Amino acid sequence: RPSVVFDNVVFGYEKDRQILHGLSFEVPAGRNYAIVGPSGAGKSTLARLLFRFYDPQGGRILIDGQDIKEVTQASLRAAIGIVPQDSVLFNDTIGYNIGYGRDDATQADIEEAARGAALMGLIDRLPQGFQTEVGERGLKLSGGEKQRVAIARTLVKNPPILLLDEATSALDTRTEQDILATLHRVAEHRTSLSIAHRLSTIADADSILVLQEGRLAESGTHGQLLRAG
Ligand code: ADP
Ligand code: ADP
Repeated sequence: RPSVVFDNVVFGYEKDRQILHGLSFEVPAGRNYAIVGPSGAGKSTLARLLFRFYDPQGGRILIDGQDIKEVTQASLRAAIGIVPQDSVLFNDTIGYNIGYGRDDATQADIEEAARGAALMGLIDRLPQGFQTEVGERGLKLSGGEKQRVAIARTLVKNPPILLLDEATSALDTRTEQDILATLHRVAEHRTSLSIAHRLSTIADADSILVLQEGRLAESGTHGQLLRAG
């Protein structure tokens, strides 16, 4: 369970327009943190930096004390599981999707997919194997079920860090609450950072970081931030 540190991170997509102006924060190992802030504050940008879609122009990003520039892409991808808002699924079975669509899936792959499905409450809907023609095709699932499949696909890799980027914001409130409860359970043994639009969806976070115009404006628990207005 690694820690995640942003140390004075400076970044802009274009030369003369800075988006992050020396952003610093730490998500301690094994804690579940959230980031909120108005649209355009830089939340998705910091997620892209953590996954090295871009590199910062200044400062450092550390995972478990190590600069992510010194980590191979493969181990960075293994360390961080991303759950985006809109996940793209194959038009195929749940098992196929969780197992990354492998036709040559081994028994171990199938068991792994079953574990992911169980974690996300999908086990009843998992077919016997990847090649079987039974089970639901991806595109027939509800929005909530699709998102559960996407999350299961991320979880089977057992990433020690979870990065949730508006993971439930496309869902109706009831479905969102169901999935948030599941996510809360699976994040417990990991380090997680959850990007959110609304405070109500991250009431369980150990700490909430408020990002404004590329800077950390304040941080605290849900209760502390609500009291502060
Ligand atoms: P959200 O606020 O929902 O995260 P954004 O509007 O920030 O969505 O981004 C949507 C997509 O458009 C992203 O892929 C982002 O990279 C791209 N994007 C956002 N702003 C710009 C911009 N000024 N120039 C180029 N691409 C942009
Ligand atoms: P948030 O996720 O908090 O809504 P973003 O990180 O998406 O904010 O965007 C922060 C700023 O960066 C916005 O002004 C946005 O327009 C700009 N931006 C985002 N993606 C790109 C991009 N690919 N190219 C240029 N500007 C971008």
